[in-house]
Amino acid sequence: MTNHDNPFQDAGFETLAVGAVATNGETSDVIPPVHLSSTFEWSSGGIEHEYSRESNPTRVALEEQLARLEGGEHGLAFASGMAAISTTMLSFVPPGGHLVSAESLYSGTEKLLTKFVAGHLGVDVEFVDARDPENVAAAVDSETDLIWAETPTNPLMRLCDIRAISDIATDHGVPFGVDSTFASPYFQAPLELGADIAVHSTTKYLNGHSDSIGGAVITDDDGIYEDLAFSQQIGLGNMLSPFDCYLVGRGIKTLPARMEHHEENAMAVARFLESHDRVDSVYYPGLESHPQHELATEQMSGYSGMLSFEFDGTATELEAFINGLKMFTPGASLGGVESLIEAPSLMIPDQVSHEAATAEIPDSLVRISVGIEDVDDLCEDLQSALP
Ligand SMILES: *Cc1c(COP(=O)(O)O)cnc(C)c1O
Repeated sequence: MTNHDNPFQDAGFETLAVGAVATNGETSDVIPPVHLSSTFEWSSGGIEHEYSRESNPTRVALEEQLARLEGGEHGLAFASGMAAISTTMLSFVPPGGHLVSAESLYSGTEKLLTKFVAGHLGVDVEFVDARDPENVAAAVDSETDLIWAETPTNPLMRLCDIRAISDIATDHGVPFGVDSTFASPYFQAPLELGADIAVHSTTKYLNGHSDSIGGAVITDDDGIYEDLAFSQQIGLGNMLSPFDCYLVGRGIKTLPARMEHHEENAMAVARFLESHDRVDSVYYPGLESHPQHELATEQMSGYSGMLSFEFDGTATELEAFINGLKMFTPGASLGGVESLIEAPSLMIPDQVSHEAATAEIPDSLVRISVGIEDVDDLCEDLQSALP
């Protein structure tokens, strides 16, 4: 960056997202180049980068971009969303420690907590219904090592009150991490609401084009950053590769435009589904019928593009409905420009039947990642495939 005043200081979100940082003064690139070099020529005068696991110019460009978007001091780019989450947990929770987590979670996070954090490290992992912050307050004490939540949650679209839980965390001096993947930094700012750590699977909205796996952690706290940076670069070595950093950085430039479109389409699809008689309940924070619509309106600046609903019919009818769709690809993941649909009971059977430490997912649940296609095409497709 040039050495005059920070041009991003008072910039709007769209400007921050587009904001290019020329990392190479000699060639004046407008777009940060992909630095694939694993090592850098050593000089007795000291150099900025030595070895690409520890620091890489393309990764630094993305990490600075992520920090600006979340309104945080420090950003870190990881090899996946799970790498970001597991590194955070391993850095803050010692063997035999105490972790309080919201019970409605992405299935990978749930498995990490039950199999590894509790199973291997003997951590006391306490799952609570975080929709009511009182449940978090009742579980946390001064010995707690970390509070963890996701909002909105995958796939039940539940919310938790980030500010209320941040206050509880502050009272007990416990760090609070929020997985904000479903909202993206465009619609939700956990750090501004008092959380200590904001986490994203960049695989989803941040990259936005379903062609990269990655994760991010953003924090304002210098101590938290130093611990996480040590784990990322030295201890665990699970940083994002230069080429993926380039892809995510490119995706971020259109994040605001994509998120506006995702939300507009999701609202129309949610209203369409709500009016259909083979659809029981629609879970979309933007609908007045969502039990936490008020909280969503308060803590988010938009409702994003994810929704789920309960299908009124047999498993066979559900399968026929999904196979009958032409515009929605059945598949895992979310946040890309194309619409994806997933029925957890058909696609991940063990997720539903395993003994539930965490929130139960109904067999009739269908999750949609609403893309940015023509919304009339999407609604017509649903209309013709629904029984
Ligand atoms: C996908 C997802 C993750 C995991 O991210 P990966 O990039 O797949 O490792 C974590 N949390 C949420 C909410 C997700 O949707």
